[in-house]
Amino acid sequence: MEGRRNRADTGLRSDSKGAVRAPHFFRSGQTAGQVYKKLFKAFGPQGWWPVSPAPGELPAYRPLFYGPHSGAAMFEICAGAILTQNTAWTNARAALDGLSSARALSPSTLAALPLAGLCGLIRPSGYYRQKAARLKEFSRYILARHPEGLGKWFSDADTEKLRAELLMLKGIGPETADSMMLYASGKAKFVVDAYTFRIFGRLGLLSGTYSDLQLAFERSLPHDHRIYNEYHALIVALCKNCCRKTKPLCGACPLKAMCIGYKNAQDDTVV
Ligand code: SF4
Repeated sequence: MEGRRNRADTGLRSDSKGAVRAPHFFRSGQTAGQVYKKLFKAFGPQGWWPVSPAPGELPAYRPLFYGPHSGAAMFEICAGAILTQNTAWTNARAALDGLSSARALSPSTLAALPLAGLCGLIRPSGYYRQKAARLKEFSRYILARHPEGLGKWFSDADTEKLRAELLMLKGIGPETADSMMLYASGKAKFVVDAYTFRIFGRLGLLSGTYSDLQLAFERSLPHDHRIYNEYHALIVALCKNCCRKTKPLCGACPLKAMCIGYKNAQDDTVV
């Protein structure tokens, strides 16, 4: 059973000075594991996905907590996964704050809210009409098809069946479905996003479709949702801190020694 674990059984260990370090579970030569360890050492546990401790409170990061979440927290994570589509997390979070302040973060409340009112609450997320419709559809689906509630639905569901079910819903693609599964449900599905394509393309390690990259990670890493949780969050941290879309800050990057893009740029400079 996947559940709340203390530091001793998360696979994450402390050194003699108390600093958290990555676990030693990768076989030598596994590049996905090498990248993970470098990122974890540089940025530490990320505490994703931020969830409001109580209704109306701001979402908080909880390093080394990997679930299980309450049904309410799961719904907040799923709503966040929809709201962050095609926009920065800061915008999605502002929309979530609006929903939370209005005590509207539940399937029954969202389904009952007038569309115009919902649009007003989530306007900061951008594409708010489209996202309001998606939130309403997701909420109605839970109420109609899963009267047991989101928490029980997500907890009891088989991983691949849950993914297939989510992907059938309008406006939920692979990245959104996998975010819901990994961060809300605690299922071991690796989340691939534009940052993943950027970093691993520049590193010269991976290319292909969403499914190609997901499969590569899932084959290379232990089947552990805690590792997938940290890994995706660490990829986001690297992109925000170093591997920016234009003018990446390679000098400060923990991966520069293994980065083909950085090496090529250095060679071009010398020539
Ligand atoms: S060295 Fe530069 S290009 Fe390579 S991963 Fe790091 S920031 Fe990105």
